[in-house]
Amino acid sequence: MVNLRIPGPIPVNDDILESMGTPMINHRGPEFKEILYRTTERLKTVFSTKNDVYIITGSGTSAMEAAVVNTLSPGDKAINATVGVFGNRFGVISERYGIDLVSLEFPFGSDVDLDVLRNCLNANPDVKAVMVTHNETSTGVTNNLQGISTVVKKEYDKLILVDGISSVCSLPLETDLWDLDVVATASQKGWMLPPGLAFISFSEKAWEAHSRSTMPRFYLDMAEYKRYYEIGQPPFTPSVSCMFALDLALDQIVTEGMGSVFKRHASIGQYTRDCIAELNLNIFPNSKEIASNTCTAVEVPEGVDGSKLVSKMRDEHKVVLAGGQASLSGKIFRIGHMGQTTESDIKGAMDALKIVLPEIGFRN
Ligand code: PMP
Repeated sequence: MVNLRIPGPIPVNDDILESMGTPMINHRGPEFKEILYRTTERLKTVFSTKNDVYIITGSGTSAMEAAVVNTLSPGDKAINATVGVFGNRFGVISERYGIDLVSLEFPFGSDVDLDVLRNCLNANPDVKAVMVTHNETSTGVTNNLQGISTVVKKEYDKLILVDGISSVCSLPLETDLWDLDVVATASQKGWMLPPGLAFISFSEKAWEAHSRSTMPRFYLDMAEYKRYYEIGQPPFTPSVSCMFALDLALDQIVTEGMGSVFKRHASIGQYTRDCIAELNLNIFPNSKEIASNTCTAVEVPEGVDGSKLVSKMRDEHKVVLAGGQASLSGKIFRIGHMGQTTESDIKGAMDALKIVLPEIGFRN
C-alpha cells in the first residue's frame, strides 16, 4: 500500500470511494434536489455560517477565481496579502481580470504581519478587498485569519476574500464570527473526498459587491448558483459521483463534530512536528506557533538532494511526499496530514525517512 502523504489529494476511505459507484441519477430530479439541500445545509455547519454556500464542480482554484470575479470589477484596487505560492495565485487570478493589485508579499516561511497589513491599508484607502490564504500549503504556515479579519473588517471595513482550501474542515475557521465575506475551499483536503468539488461561502456584503461588479463571468457566476439553488438544482451538470461521496462524508463529519475534527488535526500536526524534531530536522515555518496542522513543511538538510529524497521515499518505501514549489523546489519537502491521518501513517513515513536520509548524505 502506498502511503500518500501529500497535502491533497489525501487517501479516501473505501466507503466513500464505494459511494461514488452509485448509479447516476437525474441532476435535475427530486433525488438530487434532496442531496443538494442536505449537503449544502451541512456544509454551512462546517463553514460555521448562516451565509449562502455553493457547490462548484471544479478544483479549489475555481472557487478562488469565483471569489474574485463575483465581488470585484476591472480596475478595482485590491490587496493580496501573500505568504507563499498559493497566495501568489490569488494575485495572478486578480491581475488576469484587470484588478489594480497591491501585492503585499511576506517572505516564505512567515505569516501575515498585522501591522504591515494595517500600513498597507493606510497607504491604500481606496482598496475594495483584501485577499488572503488561511493555510499556505506551499510553506506549511497558518495565518492568523481571525486577527487579519479583525483588521480588514472592523478597522478598515473592506471585503475579505479567503482561500480556505487547506483549512476548512481541518482547522478552526468561523465564517460568521470572523465576518469572512467569501471563503473558498476544495474537496480533496480535510473533507476526506476525492478532488472534483469546490465550496464557496458568500456573505451579504459579498452579494452587495456582486450587484455592483461588472466583471465578465459565466460558469462561476454565483448569481446563477443562487437562482438554480432556489429550484433545487445546480446551474450546470455537477459531478454527481462526487456529490454522493460528499453526502456520505458530511454524515461522518457532522456526526463526529467539528470540535473533534479540529482536535484530530491539531494532534496529528503536533505529532508530526515532534517526529521531525526527533529526526533532528527543522520545520520550514519561522516559528512553531504558525506551523500548519494540515501540512508540515520540512527543510531539506544541508548536503541532501531534495528531489532525490522525494523520489527514494516514493520508489523504495512507497511513501509519497510533496517537494517544494517555485523557489522552494529542492529546499523543503512537505508531509500532508489532513483527514483521517493516523500516527501510524506518520510513523511509517518517519521510519522510511530514517533509512533514506543517511543514504543521501544526511549527517545527524
Ligand atoms: N490554495 C491552497 C492553499 C491549496 O492548498 C491549493 C491546493 N494545493 C490550492 C489553492 C489550489 O487548489 P486546486 O489545486 O484544487 O485548484
